[in-house]
Amino acid sequence: MGHEDIESVLLTEAEIKARVRELAGEIAESHGDGELVAVGVLTGAFVFLADLVRHLRNPVRFTFVKADSYGDGTRPGELRLTMMGEQDLRDRDVLVVEDILDTGRTLAGILAILREKGPRTLRSVVLLDKPARREVEVQADFTGFTVPDRFIVGYGLDHAQRYRNLPFIGVLGVGG
Ligand code: 5GP
Ligand code: MG
Repeated sequence: MGHEDIESVLLTEAEIKARVRELAGEIAESHGDGELVAVGVLTGAFVFLADLVRHLRNPVRFTFVKADSYGDGTRPGELRLTMMGEQDLRDRDVLVVEDILDTGRTLAGILAILREKGPRTLRSVVLLDKPARREVEVQADFTGFTVPDRFIVGYGLDHAQRYRNLPFIGVLGVGG
């Protein structure tokens, strides 16, 4: 397969595909058929976002956010968001799309900043949830899969910017 660094496959391409389709159904059901603004969290969410939105029949506008934490290097610092694309979220139905919920800091920070922009509704979808490492109390409105406390790659998720294009999700082996 050419993926010697992958210790084990956690979620196959077929499993992901089926679940992403279901998630789109859940989202469409809860939102109705109105317009959405999808907010993709760079970089990891780009694969999930692209597959998810192609199952939605709603009109969708897009924006992408890059979240950077400014701290002293020992503690998590203040989260700053750079937004690319649609900026005006006032009275819109906003859906944040993220790859994985880990400590929860990133999603919690993004939701807090976006809430100040006055959206009509603000919801979030994460493909993966790793509840074992949660530090901040935050839950996504829609979750694809719950995963164990392992470092995983593929389907958008990287290690040192590699593996994002794997069509499956796997556990990275030691030394990988
Ligand atoms: P949080 O603020 O919830 O701790 O961070 C979430 C971010 O950490 C994700 O967007 C992702 O970039 C990164 N992350 C957390 N767990 C993993 C993992 O198992 N693999 C990879 N590749 N990234 C992870
Ligand atoms: Mg990320």
